[in-house]
Amino acid sequence: MPQKPRVFHDPSELRVAIRQAQASGQRVGLVPTMGALHEGHLSLVAESQKSCDLTVVTIFVNPTQFAPGEDFEKYPRTLDTDLELLSRFEPVWVLAPEVEAMYPPGSTTEVKAPQIARMLEGEFRPTHFDGVATIVLKLFQVAPADAAYFGQKDFQQVRVIEEMVRDLLVPIEVVRCPIVREEDGLAMSSRNRYLSADERQIALSISQTLDAACLQIERHATNATTLCAEMLQCLRDDGVVPEYVTIADPRTLKSVETIEAEVVILVAAKVGTTRLIDNMLVSPPSSR
Ligand code: AMP
Repeated sequence: MPQKPRVFHDPSELRVAIRQAQASGQRVGLVPTMGALHEGHLSLVAESQKSCDLTVVTIFVNPTQFAPGEDFEKYPRTLDTDLELLSRFEPVWVLAPEVEAMYPPGSTTEVKAPQIARMLEGEFRPTHFDGVATIVLKLFQVAPADAAYFGQKDFQQVRVIEEMVRDLLVPIEVVRCPIVREEDGLAMSSRNRYLSADERQIALSISQTLDAACLQIERHATNATTLCAEMLQCLRDDGVVPEYVTIADPRTLKSVETIEAEVVILVAAKVGTTRLIDNMLVSPPSSR
């Protein structure tokens, strides 16, 4: 019978237990999440299990990464189902803290996210990455793992964390994991459950438009400006409301005009009231 994971609510208890596990020679992996788990999250746990003896999954809907008017209150909270899903893996520990445990009353200290956070998502959600950087650094403190696993689904987020870890000398290895998609291509996301059946169909346009752009790049298209304009048109024609579409250097996230090396194509868009993001990495034939 699969065992439900051991659940901690108190961050200090978790830290002591992790230190004990490490003292006995175990390598510990950390998977930070906001819960409402799906196969994308579980792929991070599976990746951690490949090289770690123990995986710690944190489930915490972090208030500081939501701006007023965003979906903090309605964000799905499904701890029991999440624990069921995690019982497929062993050994897994879960940290599910209250807000006060992560933000002690009176706390005013926060992390200023690195420069790379200011563009793209940062233009539309100016306070988002400061909130992400703050909570991730706190999670690294209470779960001092050897490696932390993040999805490429949130491409800019991984770059922000990588830079924060470098800049603040955090002793943890950051591991990027590929995007897990539904069979029809939609990138898995906890927010997909907000979509009506019609919206779910419209949302497919995002991965399809990305696929089509990758194909064009593989077939020698090099003009990023033209490609982005075509993508914007496709998305709009399908009823998606794009916030940004960009073809960028995967390290700096600066947009490129001519595609000469590997690029990341990033999309943020609204379908109805639901905001979705997706991206794909692609290399032109000339760079292979
Ligand atoms: P979230 O719960 O949305 O904050 O995501 C927690 C972690 O899971 C982040 O590192 C995400 O990038 C990752 N993640 C979310 N969706 C996917 C997906 N479809 N494929 C791979 N990783 C994902």
